[in-house]
Amino acid sequence: MFTPFENETYVNFAEETPRRKMEEAITLVTSRLGRTYPIVIGGERITDGKLAESVNPARRSQVIGVTPDATPELADKAVAAANEAFKTWQKVPVAQRARYLVRAAAIIRRRIYEFSAWMVLESSKSWLEAYADAAEAIDFLEFYAREAVRWCAPQPTTDFAGESNMVQYIPIGVGAVIPPWNFPLAIMAGMTMAAVVTGNTVVLKPAEQSPIVAAIFFELLEELGLPDGVVNFLPGPGETVGEALTGSPYIRFVSFTGSKDVGLHINQRIAITQPGQKWIKRGIFEMGGKDAILVDEDVDLDQIAADVVLAAFGFQGQKCSACSRLIVHKNVYDALIEKVAARADALAVGDPAAGNFMGAVIDGDSFARIQKYIEIGKSEGNLVLGSKNADPEVSADGWFVYPTIIKDVQPDSRLAQEEIFGPVLAVLKAESFEHGLEIVNGTQFGLTGAAYSNNRSRIEKAREEFHVGNLYLNRKCTGAFVDVQPFGGFNMSGTCSKAGGREYLGLFLQAKSISERW
Ligand code: NAD
Repeated sequence: MFTPFENETYVNFAEETPRRKMEEAITLVTSRLGRTYPIVIGGERITDGKLAESVNPARRSQVIGVTPDATPELADKAVAAANEAFKTWQKVPVAQRARYLVRAAAIIRRRIYEFSAWMVLESSKSWLEAYADAAEAIDFLEFYAREAVRWCAPQPTTDFAGESNMVQYIPIGVGAVIPPWNFPLAIMAGMTMAAVVTGNTVVLKPAEQSPIVAAIFFELLEELGLPDGVVNFLPGPGETVGEALTGSPYIRFVSFTGSKDVGLHINQRIAITQPGQKWIKRGIFEMGGKDAILVDEDVDLDQIAADVVLAAFGFQGQKCSACSRLIVHKNVYDALIEKVAARADALAVGDPAAGNFMGAVIDGDSFARIQKYIEIGKSEGNLVLGSKNADPEVSADGWFVYPTIIKDVQPDSRLAQEEIFGPVLAVLKAESFEHGLEIVNGTQFGLTGAAYSNNRSRIEKAREEFHVGNLYLNRKCTGAFVDVQPFGGFNMSGTCSKAGGREYLGLFLQAKSISERW
């Protein structure tokens, strides 16, 4: 029915045409800033209540857009609207549901610079990071459309004399979709539409830091003619609106991506059966990381330094997959640190709208948390790079943090154990590759990781023992592609749902076995 799935490709912003298109898109989006986007429940548009401004992290006086904060009462109303829509949406043939996604992908593809520009301005992504985010959103939509058709087809069973037997996957019900801000289009759209294409209906509560990108995506769903109530748009604080959603007896599942602490809290909350609840709520949790790159002694240090800098400082280190621990064989420890620091020091930090490699961190809370960890790092290790953070001029307009590297960090220190979610790289010395592997596995997390070595037996050892959901050998630990590296982690990194993988849609379905005796 559809052509085989293929990943989107990126453009090269060193070339003139993509640069011009991105500049034009930033100008266009800038002319649209400051609008108010309503809450939308069952097609009803609501703009009452307290208004929240979403601002550009790199220019704090620039308002990207405004959304009303929903309330717990509106959360109940949204869950009711989703339940009403579920009655009909679950019966829409899967091929029809899938075509909404393919059409959404086509529209984003046509307007990819515009979607990217919204992320440059609202999330302070560099041009390439923003473009990659939009490309990944397209990939999720295209891939899940095809996957839904596969999952919802009749499944094979063993023949049994005198009976007809079949197994059919059906949707589970109404879900609360609670995404993070750091992949404001790709993760938000992927989580939402995976649930929808499998026949469920949802309440989408976007992250407080990126509601406008979500609102622009919601406008696209309206443009597609997705029936009212299939996706309900409910911006507002996690602590109030999110709480109301996850505590509702009328939601069947929560699809969450975010921090470990919030994920664990929601996991506890949905385990409590509420009066009137008829099912065990399902939880899909993708959480944080403390991702490591492990470097052996026999490797090309220049290439690895380039990879480490991209993995640690791309999008200001605000990826769940970002390298936050660099674990280096003692024989190349000093040499690699020198090369990484030289490259990191040369990175362009500033307003990403102007084409800089590193923009601002997402907000004041993040800025303060990162500064706190830099201070902790200075007491736990030795600062190699990062003193520019103190420059008040740098922070005048936005939440900028320069790349920071702290060496001689001990494996059990806070800097090596806690997710910082900013451009702070802890460097640890390993006595041997094997010792490095022990350090790698010594945290609560298990999301991504990379090992570099030219020694075959060590690479095989890493393949077996490096305990993460996404392992990369002789390449960096960021940049997973849909259906190439299905994404999700072990341990406190989540339930290993493997977004962008072939098992993912099963999380939004339940299998019904039907036997008819002749
Ligand atoms: P966060 O946990 O602060 O917020 C995530 C979402 O949860 C937001 O929409 C927020 O409003 C909501 N929320 C907050 N409190 C809530 C509550 N009590 N009830 C219901 N909802 C609530 O995370 P963040 O800062 O948005 O994102 C960064 C985190 O996400 C990092 O830890 C990062 O590693 C993680 N992350 C993980 C993956 C992955 O695939 N494993 C991908 C991206 C980000």
